Amino acid sequence: MTSLQAHPTSPSRTVKSGPEQDVLIVGGGPAGCVAGILLARAGIRTSILEKALPGHHKICGDLLSTRSLEFLDSLQIEWGAKRAEGLPIEGIQVHDEKGLKSAAYLELEAGKDPVGLTLRRDLLDGFLQRKAMEAGCGFFYGTRFQSIVGREEKAVLCRASSEGGDLLFRARLVFGAGGILSPTARAAGLFERRPEVMLLSVRRYYRGVEGLRNMVELYPLSRLQPGYAWVIPLSRDVANIGLGVRADVCRRDRVRLHKELARFVGGHPGLSRRMGRAEAAGPVQGWPLTAFGSVRRLSGSHVLLLGDSGGFIDPLSGEGVFGAMQSARIAVDVAREALRRGSFNAGFLARYDERCRRFFRGDFGAASFVTGFLAHPAVGKPVAMWALRQVERNCVLDPGYARMIAGFFTGMVPRRRFLQLKWLVRTVFG
Ligand SMILES: Cc1cc2nc3c(=O)[nH]c(=O)nc-3n(C[C@H](O)[C@H](O)[C@H](O)COP(=O)(O)OP(=O)(O)OC[C@H]3O[C@@H](n4cnc5c(N)ncnc54)[C@H](O)[C@@H]3O)c2cc1C
Repeated sequence: MTSLQAHPTSPSRTVKSGPEQDVLIVGGGPAGCVAGILLARAGIRTSILEKALPGHHKICGDLLSTRSLEFLDSLQIEWGAKRAEGLPIEGIQVHDEKGLKSAAYLELEAGKDPVGLTLRRDLLDGFLQRKAMEAGCGFFYGTRFQSIVGREEKAVLCRASSEGGDLLFRARLVFGAGGILSPTARAAGLFERRPEVMLLSVRRYYRGVEGLRNMVELYPLSRLQPGYAWVIPLSRDVANIGLGVRADVCRRDRVRLHKELARFVGGHPGLSRRMGRAEAAGPVQGWPLTAFGSVRRLSGSHVLLLGDSGGFIDPLSGEGVFGAMQSARIAVDVAREALRRGSFNAGFLARYDERCRRFFRGDFGAASFVTGFLAHPAVGKPVAMWALRQVERNCVLDPGYARMIAGFFTGMVPRRRFLQLKWLVRTVFG
């Protein structure tokens, strides 16, 4: 941890100032840590402020998709041992609302790597935090970013609080990676959201769930469209069970997600039978998700917004770890250019918005289009349920089609490909 000097002008509370930073990162989740690792490796003076203490457990589905695994592999952070602590996921099962029978078994080809991995978020985040420190990034646990208190030509002054008193950091750039509440966006006057395209989600851990395999179980529910419930196994005994729905639909249909989760767990004909011996291992916890397109501005003078702060969550699946890490990679590239040129103004940093949109627009844009259509009050629900039935039927009959659907959902097959006429015709006519 970096050494700090006492600041003389603090009558009531101790204020200390730290050494100058090139980049100050707010938030030690996947976005902040990946940015910290890449910046520190490039020799850029960087520190991460994390308000939580070590061991913090972010509310999540705990599922790392294939693209997240590929991203983590590409970082070369020697994570084999940590990866081995997770449960490999080999496929996706889709269950209909009627009963036990799985509607489609969406396995990837034999011999291919697993589709994903489940790993509790306290384990993943703790590991990435350690890797950021090992790369040479300063790390301040229990330190909450408060605000930007001063601006100079080439730097901003940020204030943070910790148990030991307040801290002042001078930095050329601030990466806002503090999650959906986005304290940096608020401090920088960038907090502009489109709440209607956000998602709401709840999850709870259960122990003693029967019939868990190395498969993610998805349950599209007619009451909650666009949205779905999930059963994500963390072991052969413990599952993360939850559901996510578009926020505007929750408001419009007065959906109470806590109640819906209880109804799903106790009432789904297939699942409820497997829950006979199960007991809750923790409370129901909920959190909103900033789906792609919900955050209007991603950068401003001296500031870039990463991960959930920038709205990089897949609108269809709710997956956010990949978007968090990928936005961090783009932000690091832009930061290196900005530091080289000494340009930190909003005009220069707008290239971050443009590059992120270019990268994510294809897949997340297609997902946004689909979920936007399904959220339509009159046609959305009947069309959604009809389309799901068609998809289920085709998946059962045709493994190639099933793999395509799995790839569409997980983002491993470019979504525009599925929107081609050929696949639409197959969906409608089988
Ligand atoms: C119920 C649910 C299920 C989900 N399931 C999945 C899934 O299975 N797979 C997946 O890929 N994604 C999933 N997501 C999304 C995923 O959790 C997020 O997209 C991801 O955590 C974003 O990472 P991040 O680094 O941007 O933010 P976060 O992980 O939220 O990290 C932000 C960090 O900033 C810290 N912080 C906040 N404010 C301050 C402050 N003022 N000062 C200092 N530090 C601060 C926080 O303590 C936190 O550690 C799910 C989300 C929910 C709600």
